[in-house]
Amino acid sequence: MDRKDNPLGDLSTNFWSFELRCPCKKCRRKKVLVDDLLLFKLEMIRMAFGSLPVIILSGNRCPEENKHIGGHPDSAHIPAPAGKGADVKIKGVKPIDIGLAAEKIGGLRIGVARTYCHLDVKPPRPSRFWAYVGKKPIYSGSIGNESLLKFYKIVMGEEGK
Ligand SMILES: [Zn+2]
Ligand SMILES: [Zn+2]
Repeated sequence: MDRKDNPLGDLSTNFWSFELRCPCKKCRRKKVLVDDLLLFKLEMIRMAFGSLPVIILSGNRCPEENKHIGGHPDSAHIPAPAGKGADVKIKGVKPIDIGLAAEKIGGLRIGVARTYCHLDVKPPRPSRFWAYVGKKPIYSGSIGNESLLKFYKIVMGEEGK
C-alpha cells in the first residue's frame, strides 16, 4: 500500500519497512522483519519527544552489509530472524538526550554516537550502554551499567557536557 493511501506505517503506527530495510541490493525485495518490541520502544521514543519524527539512519543489515560497513559481528541490526536494533536521530535533539529518554523507557541497550543514537532490545549483558569516541565504541561493561549519564560523562569528559 502506498504511503498516501494509508497514514499508518506497515511495521507499526509510525514506522515503515522502507525505513528499516537493509540498504544492500540483495535485500531490496526481501520482506523486512523487525522485532515488535523494538518497534514499540521506537514508538515510545517518538512520544517522549512530542511525536517528532524519529529518523532511522540504519535499521536491518544482512550479515554481508553489516560486515561491509564495519558493524559489530554480533550486531543487533542483523535480522535473526527479525532485526532488534536501529540507529536513530531526531531533528533538534542531541543523541545523548535520545539515550536518556531510552534509559527512562527501559529495556533498551543504548549506544550514543556524535550524530545518532543506537537502540536495541538485545539483553544488556555485559554492556547496557556504549559511547562512540570517534568510530570506536567504549562499552559500559558490567560496572558502568547503572546510569547512562554517569557513564557518558566519564567517557566523554568535558565533551559530554
Ligand atoms: Zn542486505
Ligand atoms: Zn546501531
